[in-house]
Amino acid sequence: MIPTPEAPAPRSAAAPAAAARGGAGSFHTLWNELAPIGRHADSGGYRRYAWTGADADCRAWFRAQAESRGLTYEVDRNGNQWAWLGDPLAGDAVVTGSHLDSVPDGGAFDGPLGVVSSFAALDELRSRGAAFSRPLAITNFGDEEGARFGLACVGSRLAAGQLTKEKAYELRDGDGVSLPEAMERAGYDPETIGADPERLARIGAFVELHVEQGRALDLSGDRVGIASAIWPHGRWRFDFHGEANHAGTTRLVDRRDPMLTYAATVLAARQEAALAGAVATFGKISVEPNGVNAIPSLVRGWLDSRAADQATLDTVVTAVEKAAREHADRDGIDLAVVRESFTPVVEFEHALRDELNRILGGSVPVLGTGAGHDAGILSAAVPTAMLFVRNPTGVSHSPREFAAEDDCVAGVLALADVLEGLACR
Ligand SMILES: [Zn+2]
Repeated sequence: MIPTPEAPAPRSAAAPAAAARGGAGSFHTLWNELAPIGRHADSGGYRRYAWTGADADCRAWFRAQAESRGLTYEVDRNGNQWAWLGDPLAGDAVVTGSHLDSVPDGGAFDGPLGVVSSFAALDELRSRGAAFSRPLAITNFGDEEGARFGLACVGSRLAAGQLTKEKAYELRDGDGVSLPEAMERAGYDPETIGADPERLARIGAFVELHVEQGRALDLSGDRVGIASAIWPHGRWRFDFHGEANHAGTTRLVDRRDPMLTYAATVLAARQEAALAGAVATFGKISVEPNGVNAIPSLVRGWLDSRAADQATLDTVVTAVEKAAREHADRDGIDLAVVRESFTPVVEFEHALRDELNRILGGSVPVLGTGAGHDAGILSAAVPTAMLFVRNPTGVSHSPREFAAEDDCVAGVLALADVLEGLACR
């Protein structure tokens, strides 16, 4: 059981001692230092949003860890943090890391587990006396969750050229603060943001360790797994147009009630996803006029659907749309469906994945995931792999997200083995 964040260890640069203790002791110290930052007292969840005070505290912690280990610290043109062992310019670097920001009232592990494990794995390798033949870097990618500006993986998307400076400048938070304004207020220069191919070209392999956001490892009885792919996923907006009318005086047979059609569509989505072994969720809805005594004129629902492969996802979404149209015809509703976003499947590089499996003894489970990651963004430009650590609750993006300290340490040792295998040849 990981100690609660209420009793943190004093925040100090005890890294050399931690390194001497190896990965397990180092993990414990690092985890408890970081745990109180951005934790909300009422919910017990984390509110570490990009370019806020909690984010700045996380970044200060990262920098202190880098400097106390004698690593070369730098911030790239997109505000991502880097800690280098060896020459950052030499090329063919082995890079590991994740993110420190959170969703609203997020869990402690999504992101921070990867960053903390990276420093702990380095301490483990130093305690083993490892000799590095390639540069090694630890990263903290900025704004991974997109909690503040509504777009996920901003730091890695910018670096990979998948988000332009112009588009990034249009991003605004709920208070109308733009991304460049937020960066500037946090002391970073937004002028320089944009694609960073030179930096990515210096990376020979990127390995992200992450808490599992599901229960596959719990069910298989394994502490650590390797990612095969990130499922393709998309968002579709369903607009059900009916006719507003009085909830008391309009006879049922005279109604054109889009809420009925929407409700039938939600049930269809659940059924089609279950049939296909996929997932489909209506998690957001807007209603007009949104009055308790009014039949709605418009119900707008957003479908998020993901599946292991493109064909399955297409099957599910096509079937949901077909069901929605059939109900709409019956209910006298006009339906419009718009695909708002789509991310194709990300297959992690097979050679690197096989290499990780070989390093870890050849019997590590290989799993797909329905969640997006910086590693998925970078995989377009860099050989990329992911390690997952068991999460017995299967819950993520919630304070119930959990990994036992034993399992976290198993993750640290697996990451250390992988980094040793890749960077110490
Ligand atoms: Zn994450």
